[in-house]
Amino acid sequence: MTDKLNQGWNLENTYQQLPDLFYTRVKPAKVEQPALAVYNEKLAEELGLADSVFKDGAETFTGTKLPEGSAPIAQAYAGHQFGSFTMLGDGRAVLLGEQVNPEGERYDIHLKGSGRTPYSRGGDGRAVLGPMLREYLISEAMHGLGIPTSRSLAVATTGEMVFRETPLPGAVLTRVAESHIRVGTFQYARQWGNKEDLQALADYSIKRHYPEIAEDEDRYLAFLYKVADRQAALIADWQLKGFIHGVMNTDNVAISGQTIDYGPCAFMDQYDRKTVFSSIDQQGRYSYGNQPGIGAWNMARFAESLLILMHDDEEQAIPKAKEAVETYVQSVEGYWLDGMRQKLGIIDKGDDDKTLIQNLLDLLEKYHVDFTNTFRSLTLRQLDSNSVLFQSTAFKEWYEVWQDKLKNQSVSMEDAYQLMKQHNPSIIPRNYLVEEALTAAVSQENYEPFHALLAALENPYAYTKEQEKYAVKPPEQDYQTFCGT
Ligand code: AMP
Ligand code: MG
Repeated sequence: MTDKLNQGWNLENTYQQLPDLFYTRVKPAKVEQPALAVYNEKLAEELGLADSVFKDGAETFTGTKLPEGSAPIAQAYAGHQFGSFTMLGDGRAVLLGEQVNPEGERYDIHLKGSGRTPYSRGGDGRAVLGPMLREYLISEAMHGLGIPTSRSLAVATTGEMVFRETPLPGAVLTRVAESHIRVGTFQYARQWGNKEDLQALADYSIKRHYPEIAEDEDRYLAFLYKVADRQAALIADWQLKGFIHGVMNTDNVAISGQTIDYGPCAFMDQYDRKTVFSSIDQQGRYSYGNQPGIGAWNMARFAESLLILMHDDEEQAIPKAKEAVETYVQSVEGYWLDGMRQKLGIIDKGDDDKTLIQNLLDLLEKYHVDFTNTFRSLTLRQLDSNSVLFQSTAFKEWYEVWQDKLKNQSVSMEDAYQLMKQHNPSIIPRNYLVEEALTAAVSQENYEPFHALLAALENPYAYTKEQEKYAVKPPEQDYQTFCGT
């Protein structure tokens, strides 16, 4: 019997069963001086990747040497970027293949920053070390938080400089996702393919992600419902943890329901629905408070691209598609409400829960207090006497109503607080901590802070002593993040 953990590469390339218009064969660029900067051994193990993979890691994870079974491609897609429709595609990424792990699960192995492709437009196809380490850290933190996400397997440096405003060290990120099929892939098929192309993509996606509906008569409508439901759950989860994606363009919406394409994303410190970090989002289109609504907009674009599969006369499919999008709106609210109840230890649902939750959030906003730490304090029953929020009369009144609710539940107070601990992270990847870790890694080649932060974020619900230093509120600062670098 083969050693399961040491299975090694087991790549398939099923995406290439799709019509040619969906991809272009392209080899990743060989780089001058491949070196492994970070490698995710635990993830490698989950993927069934052997120690021998690590041995070749620097070359493999820069794209310099192809793993056995790889038939690399760049995927074509389109997307609405800040509302405008454009042709896109993997401009600086290649899909090496799909790793089938010992459990039979299929994961895309994707290199980001691996050179130009036919979809590069004006870009250089490259990526910079700092942002790739950032994606690694944030995506793994998201995983630790229990939020569906692409994972990061490795960051490898290329030994080449990449020119942005200044020359910066180049790197390649290996990301792992259930797939990279996007809402934008469907928009691309609808715009530039024929009905058969679109149908091939839909059937492939259903088989890969939602096999339970493959035989449904109305499977394309069912598909829309499935994707919308996962998006609703995902975006509600972002809201509950204070995550701001930053670029919720339709090309960055995975139909698997995983968070993908980490660019100018960040976690909110002070609770403010208008929070936006991205330097290019001047209008606040993708602000924290807008995320659930933008999800609906994106689902409407997805629905539009599927109409022709639902009915030969698209017009006739519209009412059903509309219903699906309306269901998303209710679902995202429902998932959010249930999640907020958990954050407040509410097990016996009541009609007045929403008001109770909203009243607290309004106070957070009014007093400009930290989102994560407020729930952390409530969970730990440590209400800082210096906090403007906790000292306010309005909060004290709110607290009494909440405590009354908890006391009168069918479960004990201890159970309620236990539930809170499971849903309120003790720590998140705070921007200033992330920046400190990245600066040490990039400027001093000191990866110690990076690994320490990564380790702390592996189990953000642990409430350990070691985590406390990462729960410290950030110094006041204006934080901006940049994408595509
Ligand atoms: P993103 O903002 O990362 O979602 O990327 C938007 C589009 O720009 C995608 O098609 C990317 O592949 C492409 N892109 C981003 N950066 C580069 C680059 N340096 N070179 C080529 N294409 C890029
Ligand atoms: Mg993208």
